[in-house]
Amino acid sequence: MSDVLILGNWKMNGSLADNQALLNDLSAVDIPASVEVGICAPYVYFSQLQTLLKSSQISLGSQDISVHLKGAYTGEIAGSMLQEFDCQYVIVGHSERREYHGESNSLVAQKALAALQHGMTPIICVGETLEQRKAERTLDVIQEQLAAIKTVLSDNELAKCVIAYEPVWAIGTGLTATPDQAQEVHVFIRQQLGEHADSIKILYGGSVSSSNAKKLFEQADINGGLVGGASLKIADFTSIIQQGN
Ligand code: PEP
Repeated sequence: MSDVLILGNWKMNGSLADNQALLNDLSAVDIPASVEVGICAPYVYFSQLQTLLKSSQISLGSQDISVHLKGAYTGEIAGSMLQEFDCQYVIVGHSERREYHGESNSLVAQKALAALQHGMTPIICVGETLEQRKAERTLDVIQEQLAAIKTVLSDNELAKCVIAYEPVWAIGTGLTATPDQAQEVHVFIRQQLGEHADSIKILYGGSVSSSNAKKLFEQADINGGLVGGASLKIADFTSIIQQGN
């Protein structure tokens, strides 16, 4: 297992031409042996990305998954479909899905289970809004989010997941939790993770950049990053990857 996991979340960005250019450059990056890199991309590009990533060390991930296996669920994508493209990671419960698509803690837990049932690693996102932080509710909110996961997943299943701490106020805003603020929450998250807590990766996400990655990754309980905007800029993403070493 690599020490540090760095995943790019492309969100709703990309085009056939842009993806090709970005992955040509990314495939040429010298990835340190201790670092694993993946990109979570829009589904429609999976066929292209599967081909482009074939002989690289970079993994493919999705940004969501359906809880249903197949059938009359217009617009949804099943785990079996993701598997056909060698998808290894599935982001679940990103704050943008919680906010814009009304995803509840229990739906997020079901999505994590769906990813596991298809042999993929869920990246379970948790995090507080600015209001919740100001009201000193950060740890309560995260405890509730994780409690829903633990209702559905056993300790052994949880051991196969990755958690991403993403303070909502830091996503796409240029504001980052300080390394100390992030570490404090990561320690709390780890305490909630049951029997196999020590081996579960906990990523930090929220405006990770080439100028703050090193200090974040140096924290004892930060095992990598979920990187949005900066993962689309090759110079920034390369620098972040190298700071994972
Ligand atoms: C994200 O999309 O998960 C994210 C953390 O975005 P950004 O790095 O742009 O804040």
